[in-house]
Amino acid sequence: MASKRLAAATAALLSTLATVGTVACSTSNGESVPPTGSVKPVASDVVAGGGGGGGEAAPGTAGIGDPDFPTDGNGGYDVGHYGLKLSYDPPSKHLSGVTRIEARATQNLASFNLDLSGFTVSRVTVDGKPASFGRAGTELSVTPAAFIPNAAAFTVEVAYAGEPKPVRGSSNLGTYGFIPTKDGAFVTCQPNGAKTWFPGNDHPSDKASYDFEITVPAGLTALANGELVGTPKSAEGKTTFQWRESHPMASYLATVTLGRFEMLQGTTPGGVKNLAAVDPRFRGSLKKLYDVSGRVTDYWSTVFGPYPFSSTGGVVDDFPAGYALENQTKPMYGGFDPDDAIIAHELAHQWFGDSLSITRWKDLWLNEGFATYAEWLWSEHEGEATAEQLFRRHYGAGAEDPIWGYTPGQAKPDDLFNDSVYTRGGMTLHALRQRIGDPAFFKLLKEWNTTHRYGNVTTPEFVAMAEKISGKKLDALFDAWLFTARKPTTW
Ligand SMILES: [Zn+2]
Repeated sequence: MASKRLAAATAALLSTLATVGTVACSTSNGESVPPTGSVKPVASDVVAGGGGGGGEAAPGTAGIGDPDFPTDGNGGYDVGHYGLKLSYDPPSKHLSGVTRIEARATQNLASFNLDLSGFTVSRVTVDGKPASFGRAGTELSVTPAAFIPNAAAFTVEVAYAGEPKPVRGSSNLGTYGFIPTKDGAFVTCQPNGAKTWFPGNDHPSDKASYDFEITVPAGLTALANGELVGTPKSAEGKTTFQWRESHPMASYLATVTLGRFEMLQGTTPGGVKNLAAVDPRFRGSLKKLYDVSGRVTDYWSTVFGPYPFSSTGGVVDDFPAGYALENQTKPMYGGFDPDDAIIAHELAHQWFGDSLSITRWKDLWLNEGFATYAEWLWSEHEGEATAEQLFRRHYGAGAEDPIWGYTPGQAKPDDLFNDSVYTRGGMTLHALRQRIGDPAFFKLLKEWNTTHRYGNVTTPEFVAMAEKISGKKLDALFDAWLFTARKPTTW
């Protein structure tokens, strides 16, 4: 994610370093659901057939184990695939959906939770059999008729309907999730807004592939991640779009932005499918969005390694979010004409954040520091300010500047998108580059991507790889830049 103002400030080599706040997403903690205690197995034949471990079946936890976001995601299972069948009517703001989740148990599971905010749930089944369910805060707890043995595959279906309510005014970011607009909806979910439109395991440490089937009034277009499957089908004044994202994706990167759009489709000069879409109000931006997205995608492919997904592009919608989000294959820009810097930022996230996803939110600099540094690399590539000049500008901030008081290696849950995570995170990479030299630094960027493609990563893994590739001991450098609340003086 990037704020419009922050990226613009990086693009221009400003004569004085402006104080720019990072407008970004904030936290939203649902209410927790206390475990209800262990449940004795009710079907011993299932245990024998499942090949799972011994022990009694217990409820999955109401959080996936991220200490900063204790109720985000859920424990006890791992999702492999989501099938989302949705119908949305903009005038009435009514959404009805059936979500099909294909998952695997990671323990003997007596019950488990899904994250879902709002809506009325009418039916839940597990492996086709009715399951009992309950609601508390943003947790939907499901108790199957028979417990699920450890390692067994199972399928959950949830039918639900109602008016989606995005997360609003939480901490330091405005609105995120499924956001109704004049002609449809703008759907950007970082960090935990997927639960505002479908039930699931809403945390980036559980990635899955997705199928989308979205029915909207005729004349509107629904844009989801990945590729359009077949041609949209129209009947009775409605049109149904099917999209498929076959690569693993974090829940906050899923989207079904819909409304009136003008589109340009083709391929980048380097041969990657490219789709740009803009609300008619931004039709003047369409060609530039398409062209710059294509050039940036091709350039990053030479710097970071092959493009990880099936297509690139971008979407500008008429909702004044003031930020952009790196939705997988389709970055979304909320109500402004994106400049080169923010396009370079969001497309760098396709490698850093989307293909390689963080395991815990405190490591967010692995997304935002890298995407910010990418803005500097793009500026240098375009013959504007060099990364070294941009580093010097930011490093020039006085010792009392708040950027030095916030440690970017430990993003704080109530101030996740602090400028330090972005700018000091980017500076950390430049300090590393100076220390280990260009050959090792750029080798590291590529090897980091190749090794962890489509997976999850942590800061210690990055530090270990940097030390291995450079042959240098780097703990003091990373300590000073990521984990010490004062201005670093050496690197
Ligand atoms: Zn970002």
